[in-house]
Parts: sequence; structure tokens; C-alpha cells
Amino acid sequence: MDKAKAQEEIKRLSQAIEEHNYRYYILDDPVVSDKEYDDLLRQLIKLEERFPALKDLHSPSQRVGTKIPSGAKTVTHRVKMYSLDNTYTIDELRDWHSRVLRGLAAQEGLAGQKELAGQKELAGQEELAGQEVEYLAELKIDGVSIALTYEHGELSWGATRGDGTMGEDVTHNIKTIRSIPLKLRHADVRDFHPDTLEVRGEVYMNLEDFESLNRSRKRAGESIFANPRNAASGSLKLLDSRITAQRSLHCFIHSFGHAEGPAFGGQKRGRSFETHEEFLGAMKRWGLRVNPYSRFCRSLNEVIAYCREYQEKRSTIPYEVDGVVIKVNSLRQQEALGATLKSPRWAVAYKFPAHQVTTRIKDIVVQVGRTGVLTPVAELEPVHCGGVVISRSTLHNFDEIKRLGIQRGDRVLVERAGDVIPKVVKVVEASSLGRQRFFVVPKKCPACGGAIRKEKAKDVAYRCVNPLCPQQLKRSLIHFASRGAMDIEGLGEAVVKQLLEQKLVKDIADIYSLSKEDFLRLELFAEKRAQNLLDAIAKSKQQPLSRFLFALGVANVGKKAAYVLAQRYGTLDQLLHASTDELDEIPEIGTIIAASITGFFCQPATQRIIDKFKKVGVNMTEPKVASQGQLQHKKFVFTGELESMSRTQAGAYVQQKGATVMAMVSPKTNFVVVGSNPGSKYQKALDLGIKILSEQQFKEMMDGS
Ligand code: NAD
Repeated sequence: MDKAKAQEEIKRLSQAIEEHNYRYYILDDPVVSDKEYDDLLRQLIKLEERFPALKDLHSPSQRVGTKIPSGAKTVTHRVKMYSLDNTYTIDELRDWHSRVLRGLAAQEGLAGQKELAGQKELAGQEELAGQEVEYLAELKIDGVSIALTYEHGELSWGATRGDGTMGEDVTHNIKTIRSIPLKLRHADVRDFHPDTLEVRGEVYMNLEDFESLNRSRKRAGESIFANPRNAASGSLKLLDSRITAQRSLHCFIHSFGHAEGPAFGGQKRGRSFETHEEFLGAMKRWGLRVNPYSRFCRSLNEVIAYCREYQEKRSTIPYEVDGVVIKVNSLRQQEALGATLKSPRWAVAYKFPAHQVTTRIKDIVVQVGRTGVLTPVAELEPVHCGGVVISRSTLHNFDEIKRLGIQRGDRVLVERAGDVIPKVVKVVEASSLGRQRFFVVPKKCPACGGAIRKEKAKDVAYRCVNPLCPQQLKRSLIHFASRGAMDIEGLGEAVVKQLLEQKLVKDIADIYSLSKEDFLRLELFAEKRAQNLLDAIAKSKQQPLSRFLFALGVANVGKKAAYVLAQRYGTLDQLLHASTDELDEIPEIGTIIAASITGFFCQPATQRIIDKFKKVGVNMTEPKVASQGQLQHKKFVFTGELESMSRTQAGAYVQQKGATVMAMVSPKTNFVVVGSNPGSKYQKALDLGIKILSEQQFKEMMDGS
């Protein structure tokens, strides 16, 4: 690329990034995913490195965030608020560590030279010589950066980061956040805090609160927030603090800003904190909330282990975490390393793989499920998201298409968090296909051409009402044979499709009447494969009743309900005698499942199929795991650490015996099992007079039940 071309490209990238900054930081309405934004920024940085003469001081690569719009009340930060440099791989993290070591070594050399030159102002730098670097690894909370200032222990203002120099004054809203104290505390008389203290942190929203906020906005016909960060940011900038107060915002303090006044924090006169860890400790004592997962790391290897550990645990944390922040622990070393215009050199972010991306909708197709429900599905241009390639996303129902305003050809933001199936969050760019792109709700079942209808007027789902619809049968067969159901190895989608095309099965029970010759008629089937499949089908007849019930695909009956029913009734015939009211009485079942079960089994078509299953010898009994005795329907709570097993193992154990595990102690709890270091549940159990079991007593109870 020549210089002129590079100049043009730098201009184009800078303009695009500025626009995205405005949409992200000011409007809270980004139209590209963070990954795409980061890619643009990387391209710009690369070009600027190749053509340093073209690098402008105002380039977005050199600036933090974006300017606050005129009209907003602003606060000038006493000390600049920085952004963070990103790393995406362990190798990049190693490179950063090497830069830290080189930076410190260079400072050491400089200190030596200046000392030789008799410059005393660098006294203290000599302590850098030969030092190992130690780190603090912390979660990178995906929220909004804020600065809090306390004067004489009282919160005087709170501001957003803005462009790093000037932020928006959001004091009125900050004061509604309960985890931000209006007054600092201290541990004892020696533990005094500075006259002026400015600290930085992250305001965020828990995932559960975010989902619930979006649900109520959806109901009220308001636009939804793309992610918890946008929701937190939008909530923080509201003019009416009463609304902010209802938004369940929280805050973690993660960085030191500035302090004025005599010594503080129990340090010797004239000194403040020496390490970041000490700073966090003081925050805790002074009543500010710090993240509990921060870890002191003696080496880069410990940092890497932390990054890997939390990348795994990411989906178990109740708020959005987009990476790990690694900070040099010694404040003296931090000072020696300094900062670039945009970020400190002593800290870096290790970013987890993105789970929001944008892509284009190629088409919207309608699938017919095994219960006849019609589900629109977006076929996407394949894209990497959260570590996998996604090419489809359910759109749930036709109302959802309308609500999102989605059409064929649109570019959309897609999300896949944890193990969750991908979902379309919003349209970021409508297609230019015009009228031809419009999706029309089908009037007939796309699989069999039969009638479709909503079961109740207020239902959102349409169903194909033809019980012989081939698509329903296909889905039912796949489900019947699946691993969690009858577990028939070799009977997957491709084989089911052929069986239906060749008209070898007309209902799910027909698979037990298939012969070897039938399989040999299918593509890619030879003697051995046909025999293996026949054996797998025959073996599946012995599955317990719980699996058979689940495999039948009764609406609303999942694995757990099937297990509860099978354990309780023992045989299918016993279950068939139960009335809806009787089933409704079972705590784990309830009205909806009870009605589904009786509604399903009373149909003549179901009865015919059950007779066929009986004739071919499918097992319809359940081995009893435990006596129906003392543990059936009992409620357990576990607190503290158990020695001989984990709490999850103990929970699974009692569940097998028909009991349930509760998260909280309530008057309905029967037993609280207490291990070492129990939490507040123990006290609650004592207050409520609930039976408490030691680990030993618990084990004895299990052995005897
Ligand atoms: P950043 O959010 O990637 O990282 C810096 C911030 O991390 C800090 O300001 C701090 O508030 C926060 N942070 C969270 N936990 C922390 C901890 N434990 N210690 C220290 N800091 C912690 O950087 P940024 O400058 O705020 O934003 C840049 C990023 O925002 C981009 O990389 C991109 O992912 C995203 N972005 C996206 C768009 C878009 O259009 N999609 C536009 C602009 C920015």
C-alpha cells in the first residue's frame, strides 16, 4: 500500500471508529459487535505503525472513549482515566509480560545513569533493580467506568470516564446505587482515609436484572438494551434518579485514582499504599465493594492459569465478564512503567472470545417441531461466536419477528452466551432488498400443507394440527432415539429421513418392527451397520420407564418430570390410572404438566401406539432407586464444605432418593446439612428451628434410607 492509499484508509477507519464510539459511549446503541470494533481499531493501529508520519494526535487509537456531548454537566478528572490495551491470546499476554520486564529493566538502567549523574529525585527507583514482577489478576467487569470522589470521607461526586480527561457528572444517579457508600468507614482510629480520595470502578447490572429489565421494556413496547453494559450505561445517564434507583445497579471498585492529605490507610507518614493489593484491602475496610475473585499471582504462569480458569467459569458468574485485567502489583513499578496516551503500560486486558457478533440473515425458514409447533428460524451467514461457528438461530415465534422488525437480508446482532443457543438480539442494519424481503407468516403447515392454528387466542405459537404430519413424525423419531431418551445409537437424523422417505415407518412404535432387509434398502447401509442398528433398537427396549416417558415426547414433560413420575408410579399402567388432580398434587409436576399427561394418554392415537410398544416388548417399569420411605419429598439445604463429597454430589444423592435440594432455608425446609465454615443459612436454620444434620449424621441417614 502506498502512502496516499494508506492516508485514505486511515481517514476512513478513523471516521468509522469515531462514529461507533459515539453510538457506543453516548447513545448506548452500538451497531457493530465489540469484536468488529476491535478489528477496525487494530487495522488502524497497524497502518499507523507502518506509516508513523500519518499518525494524528487526535486519532481514535490515541484517545480514550469519546467526548461528552455539549450540554451535559461535566467533571474534570484530577488524574486521567485510562482505557486498557487488549490481548486476545496467551502469546500476546506473554509479549506484554516481556514488555513489562523490558520496561522495568530500562527504568533500572535509567535510574542507575541518573544516580551517577547525581540526580537525587529518582531515589527509590533503585529498588526496581533485580525485582521480580508480581501481578494481581482481576475479572474484567463489562460495565461502565466511573470515578468516585470522597472528601473528608463523604461522597462528593461521581463521574463517567468520558474522554478520560472530562467525564459526565452522574452524582445524582451514583447516589442511588446501594453498593456505593455515601460515607467511608474505617477499621480503627489508625485506619484513617485521605482528605480527598478518588477511586475508579465499574457500575454494572446483573444478568438476571438485565433480562428482567428487557422483559418489562418489551412488554411496554420500549426498545430493549443490547447487553447489560448498555443497560447500565443508559441507566446511569438518566435525568430522573428515581428511575435509576429502580434499575438494580451495582458497583465494584477496581482502581486507585488520586489521594490528597497526610498519610492514610495505616501507612507510615508520608506514604500511601505500596501495592494494588493493599489498595484493594483498604477499599474493603473503608466500605467500598471490591470483586471477590481477584488473585495475587507470583508469576506469569499463575496469571495464565487464572485467565484459563475464569474463561471456563465465565458463564457461572452472575454478571457479564469480558476478560481478565492483569495489573502489576507494586505501585512503584506501576509508576516506573507509566502510560501511553491511551492506556497504562502496567496493566492489560486478556479478552475472552466475544459472544456477540453481527452477521446477515440469509433467509427465514419455518420448522415444524415434534409437537407440531411452527418455529421460525433465521439462517445466518456463518460466523464465529463464543468459540463456535453459528449458522442458524431460532426466532422463537412470529410475534418475535415482528417485535425485532427482522427481515431477510438484515444485518443483526447475534448472541451466544455460555452454553445457551444463539439468539438474535436486534437489527443493526436493515437490508436494502425492499418489499421482496418481507417474511409472511405461513397460512398452512410448510411440511404437510395441513391447517395451522393457535391453541388459545393468547398463544404466540401456531401449531400444525395434522397428527400424521411427516415433519412432526421426523422430529418425534429423532427425539425418541436421542441419547437422553431411548439412546439408540445409529438412529440419527439422516437415517430417520430415509426411513420416512421410503415410508418404512408411520409412527414412532414402527421402529421396533423394522427388519434387517428394511435397513439394507437405505443408502450407505451394509450388513454390519444394519445389524448394529437392529441390536441397538432391541437393546433400547430395556430402558427404564422414565426414559420411555421422556422419549414419548409428551408436551412439557422433560427428563426430571418423567423421572419423578416413573419413580412414583413404577409402571406405565399405574401412571395411566392417575387423574389430572392426583398428578397436580405432586410438587414437581403441577397443573400444566398434569394436564399435558392426561391429555396425551387419553387420545386414541396414543393408546394405539402404546399397545404397539407393549406388543413388541418395550419395558414399561422403573427400578426403584430408594425406598418410598423417609426421604421421599423431603427438602434439603446444604451449607459449608463437606469433607467426603462435594455439595453437588450430596445434592444428586438425595435427589436420587426422591428428596429435593433447595437453595435457601425456608419454613418448608426439612433438613439443613452443615459442613465446615457454614454460611448464613446455618443461622437461619437455627432461627427457624429446622433439623440440622452434621455430615456424619447425613451419611448415616443416607445409608439407612
Ligand atoms: P475496555 O472496556 O475494553 O477496557 C477498559 C475498561 O475496563 C476500564 O475503563 C474499566 O472501566 C474497565 N474495567 C473492568 N474491570 C476492570 C478491572 N478489574 N480493572 C480495571 N479496569 C476494569 O475499554 P474501553 O476503552 O472502555 O472500551 C473499548 C472497548 O469497548 C473496545 O475494545 C470494544 O470492545 C468496546 N467498544 C465497542 C464499540 C462498538 O461499537 N461495539 C464502540 C466502542 C467501544
